[in-house]
Amino acid sequence: MSQPSAPSIPVRVYRDCAGEFATGVTVVIAEHDGEAQGMTLNAFTSISLEPLLVLVAVGRGSRTLTAVRSSGRFSISVLSRQQRDVAIDFATPGAPFPGRYTKRMADDFLVVAGASATHQCLVQALDPAGDHELVLGRVVGITHGGGEPLIFYRGRFGGVDPDAVVPPGHPIALYEGAGW
Ligand SMILES: Cc1cc2nc3c(=O)[nH]c(=O)nc-3n(C[C@H](O)[C@H](O)[C@H](O)COP(=O)(O)OP(=O)(O)OC[C@H]3O[C@@H](n4cnc5c(N)ncnc54)[C@H](O)[C@@H]3O)c2cc1C
Repeated sequence: MSQPSAPSIPVRVYRDCAGEFATGVTVVIAEHDGEAQGMTLNAFTSISLEPLLVLVAVGRGSRTLTAVRSSGRFSISVLSRQQRDVAIDFATPGAPFPGRYTKRMADDFLVVAGASATHQCLVQALDPAGDHELVLGRVVGITHGGGEPLIFYRGRFGGVDPDAVVPPGHPIALYEGAGW
């Protein structure tokens, strides 16, 4: 059976559409042969609780993907609202690794210092997805300091309006043990 032909959607138009989806902002770091690579990334989601699995989509041709693939391990640092400069510096193509923002954990993973949360991961699976690679990570360590998150929305950084936070007691609130 013939497939319907894909509509021609200009990339700029599509990016504007995708930008309506507000996300947090992370930095993914991997090391190989004694060299650290890292990138700002918002294509992150928590996938499974048993076992603990997370997913990131990493662009092909990025140095970070090469290091993730070679080392089989990586960290994900969830940035706080004060870390906009960190997000910008880790998103600059071809730039030297901005090591001044990082610290080494007891488990030897390199993470962003002062991040709201970190996930230390081993690569469970890699799956090509167009111009990106889907990287499934098994979480082997976490830290969680809290703080206000950095938000990315319509190509801009910002914060969360506290009124928008799910109130305690609501059935989908994270800490009620219900829903997610
Ligand atoms: C808010 C935000 C969210 C993002 N989310 C994601 C995400 O989910 N997934 C994702 O893959 N990326 C994402 N990015 C982009 C990513 O952070 C950048 O592409 C970053 O530079 C990758 O770093 P790297 O060192 O791994 O790769 P780099 O080696 O910097 O390469 C990244 C790309 O830039 C090209 N490049 C390398 N050097 C140069 C140069 N000197 N001039 C021009 N181009 C060059 C490479 O060919 C490659 O295509 C996001 C950026 C921002 C700001």
